[in-house]
Amino acid sequence: MDVVILLGAPGSGKGTVAGRLAEIVKGFSTVSSGVLLRAAIKGKTAAGVEAEGYMSRGELVPDALIAEMIDDYLASHSAGEGILALDGFPRTVPQAEMLDVILKKHGVKLCRAILLDVAEKVLLFRLSGRRICPKCGAGYHLSTIPPKKEGICDLCGTALTVRADDNPETIANRLKVYQAQTAPLIDWYQSAGVLLTVHGGREAAEIADEIVVAIRTRLF
Ligand code: AMP
Repeated sequence: MDVVILLGAPGSGKGTVAGRLAEIVKGFSTVSSGVLLRAAIKGKTAAGVEAEGYMSRGELVPDALIAEMIDDYLASHSAGEGILALDGFPRTVPQAEMLDVILKKHGVKLCRAILLDVAEKVLLFRLSGRRICPKCGAGYHLSTIPPKKEGICDLCGTALTVRADDNPETIANRLKVYQAQTAPLIDWYQSAGVLLTVHGGREAAEIADEIVVAIRTRLF
């Protein structure tokens, strides 16, 4: 099992690009820290209860809390062949250090950190129009990826919702937090010699094709 990290600001398209990669690369899977946390909140686990306040303010949850969730995930998903993309983890330098320890423990290798580089005005446009299906997790955008029937998920027919942290105030805070706490990881992975920067303002399919070429040249 090899690991790739998807780095990028909120709204940079990490989840969408990961979805596309899963369609075109055999053995490719993703774990999203945000999805794990939202599931923990829904399930009212101890971690979910602790995380909820941070998330509703657009702040990062404590490093150890999310690192433990990723560690647990890898404990049951690190066997066998394939590529696992980490979407949204690490988000701070201490998390990157924790990830090194976790990867060693599970015997998996970090092959790339992929930065989706997107201009701030595009991030704002994407986040403010984002709609999600609360049941199957499918993502939409009011103007660029509208559902066939207004407000309804194409895949499972459930009414679409706005994510709790996609309101203007929380969006602004999440972008600020990204600059202050996550952007330093760009230099971190550049120094480690694994950073790949791709222009993330394009269609997901185009971005995914570029990433596939880069992953292949490094992996095989
Ligand atoms: P996302 O779905 O990736 O946009 O994440 C939603 C929210 O979950 C973030 O705004 C944070 O509050 C929290 N979160 C997700 N991943 C992490 C992480 N690696 N470290 C700390 N907080 C996180």
